[in-house]
Amino acid sequence: MLLPLKKSILQKVTYTPKDSKPITLWIKRDDLLHPHISGNKYRKLKYNLEAAKEQNHNTILTFGGAFSNHIAASAAAGKELGFRTIGIIRGNELGGDIEKTLKKNPTLNFANKQGMQFKFIDRSSYRLKHTQKFIEALKNEFGSFYLVPEGGTNDLAVKGCEEILGDNESNFDYICSAIGTGGTISGIINSLKLHQKVLGFPALKGDFLSDEIKKYVHSTDNWQLLNDYHFGGFAKINPELVHFINDFSLQTGIQLDPIYTGKMLFGIIDLAKKGYFEDKVKILAIHTGGLQGISGMNQRLKNKNLPFIITNHD
Ligand SMILES: *Cc1c(COP(=O)(O)O)cnc(C)c1O
Repeated sequence: MLLPLKKSILQKVTYTPKDSKPITLWIKRDDLLHPHISGNKYRKLKYNLEAAKEQNHNTILTFGGAFSNHIAASAAAGKELGFRTIGIIRGNELGGDIEKTLKKNPTLNFANKQGMQFKFIDRSSYRLKHTQKFIEALKNEFGSFYLVPEGGTNDLAVKGCEEILGDNESNFDYICSAIGTGGTISGIINSLKLHQKVLGFPALKGDFLSDEIKKYVHSTDNWQLLNDYHFGGFAKINPELVHFINDFSLQTGIQLDPIYTGKMLFGIIDLAKKGYFEDKVKILAIHTGGLQGISGMNQRLKNKNLPFIITNHD
């Protein structure tokens, strides 16, 4: 194990929606694994960083959006383990006045403080980021590096996520996970017990996600995607979601993030209200972290005079 980790605990919570009876479920607190390399991002980086070390790389290069949890986690892991980190960030307008960008963007500001070096690129170049030509150009610019894909998903990331579920989780019937690129849920699916089923909650409009997941998993009959809880797309939110996140934290003491875990829990509660789950089933939701994204989201909400997420720090 590369990094000192806190234990991931199972927490039983009961949430009572305004218009419905109480709902009990368990939450696996992977958000507590590490203060800066939270949740699934630690799991996804773990074997990649080991491989990078084994291959004698001293530089990690990866990709992400301006508020990416993966960028923040990669920067922090690199700092802690002695890798140079390079972040290829979507949005070349951000590179114009870097001081201003860092002032306005808590994620990039954090990554910068961890020593991450940035290259900002426009959206059409960003789409070509995994082509051989683009990667060759990056090698010419930065020297040799270990490449971690956007969102951190590859075979080694899935292997790391196969460690999310252990013996303590074997008596749950449903395991719920938020989905971005699909790496995390793939690892969970691969480590299921026979009687267990996974419900995946895409954080984006992701018709392609089933096919992505099928690249990494061996089975097709014990998982299902619930596509009605993306709130319009990646990082799209509305006051109803913000209200839910605030109410959930008030009732349970657990902070959710607006991009992934908030949408997942909103979905689980909505399904429960609609009678989706059989009586007495035990539901486990994985808290994959992502709390670093709250302050960037709140800035945008406050600028628009919209309801924002209440945290312990406010
Ligand atoms: C990145 C992320 C996810 C999505 O993980 P994938 O492996 O990309 O599907 C879920 N939750 C949180 C908090 C994340 O940061």
